[in-house]
Amino acid sequence: MIDGKAWAAHSRHETRQEAMALVAVGVTPGLAVILVGDNPASQSYVRGKERAARDSAVSSEVFRLAATTGQEEVLALIERLNADGRVHGILVQLPLPDHMDTVKVLAAVAPNKDVDGFHALNVGSLSLGLNAFVPCTPLGVMKLLAYEGVDLRGRHAVVVGRSNIVGKPMAQLLLQADATVTVCHSRTRDLAGITRQADILVAAVGRPEMITGDMIQPGAVVMDVGINRLGDRLVGDVEFASAVGVAGLITPVPGGVGPMTIAMLLHNTVKAAQATLRQV
Ligand code: NDP
Repeated sequence: MIDGKAWAAHSRHETRQEAMALVAVGVTPGLAVILVGDNPASQSYVRGKERAARDSAVSSEVFRLAATTGQEEVLALIERLNADGRVHGILVQLPLPDHMDTVKVLAAVAPNKDVDGFHALNVGSLSLGLNAFVPCTPLGVMKLLAYEGVDLRGRHAVVVGRSNIVGKPMAQLLLQADATVTVCHSRTRDLAGITRQADILVAAVGRPEMITGDMIQPGAVVMDVGINRLGDRLVGDVEFASAVGVAGLITPVPGGVGPMTIAMLLHNTVKAAQATLRQV
């Protein structure tokens, strides 16, 4: 079993060292989080991000706005944060309320402060293999694979899910690591037939325990991105009980990919702060 919590603590420790080195030369890495509305899951994620930032010597400020806030007000806040030299990373917590145009709001974040890697310029840079801010969840999966010493070259990686925040960037990163990549989605035929061919299987579907043990090749590495509430339990997209005996390595939920997502947000914020030093 891959202990995502322990690896995330390890990663945050590395980030803290880098942040302290920046503080020593007068730059405190700063993260601004914009939270619109009162979605309980978003509020809980944001609290987790604030806590982790404190642990990593990253200063963070959360802008909590009412659900009724107009889009122009959010855009004006982003504009102000783009121009604020103390802010190195800006994160707009999704989902935004329905009356907002998410694409437009995300496009307003300065690409060099886009620590979530959602701006079109960063998405394009990633697909061209250029230096970019990479979305935190797929970056966290890649880090876990590297920490565990999983060799990706020439191996078959299957990603289930093609969202802009997880599936697509995940596929790009695996491709860059020389894996042979297959991306599956809701229209894929014979999903189990494909997942059974995976040496590395990434599940990012949002359907509780959809990937069962019989869909996994014995010995495969299974990375479960899903976070779903099933009654009073938090479960992944993989049915852990049937998968754990088949997989060679597997991430649990909770305590797998989730903690790495926050660790990568702090990593990206420190990277953004380091870049400002190079510009001076
Ligand atoms: P989305 O809903 O945006 O995307 C889900 C993807 O799964 C879509 O591409 C969809 O296909 C595909 N899909 C849906 N049903 C099936 C099916 N029956 N067979 C095959 N593919 C299917 O979700 P996200 O990518 O945002 O999130 C995925 C999961 O990861 C969620 O559980 C979410 O909570 C979790 N998550 C966890 C994070 C973490 O920190 N660990 C961070 C972000 C997300 P199609 O495109 O055809 O509709």
